[in-house]
Amino acid sequence: MHEKLWPRGVKKTNQRKSVFEILMQAKAPLSAMDIFTKAEQEGVEIWLSTVYRILDLFVEKGLIEKHIISGSDMALYELKEKKHKHYAICIGCQKMIVLDKCPISRDISIEDFQITDHKVEIHGYCGSCSQ
Ligand SMILES: [Zn+2]
Ligand SMILES: [Zn+2]
Repeated sequence: MHEKLWPRGVKKTNQRKSVFEILMQAKAPLSAMDIFTKAEQEGVEIWLSTVYRILDLFVEKGLIEKHIISGSDMALYELKEKKHKHYAICIGCQKMIVLDKCPISRDISIEDFQITDHKVEIHGYCGSCSQ
């Protein structure tokens, strides 16, 4: 349990803890359905509506980030880590793949502009959707 990340004033229930643990262990952002399925596999008694409620609470407390996939009503959730990450997103199935390195050159410079951060999103089709 990563106690330090747990938001203040949020009561620890078994359901909340298991949603948190699932997000903690995830290598890519998850949908509420993914979390629900994993929780069920681990034998946690939870409803999908409860998963949504917990996710809303975690977003509100700033523990996790909600990614809305453009062009769909699907949302993916992940823990807000300080790590610098980029994703390739499949247009077919909305899968998000973490890139192993930043595609932006470090020595990029813009005249009279101080760069503090950047966002890059790669769109395309994953292996199974491109067939
Ligand atoms: Zn795909
Ligand atoms: Zn980058």
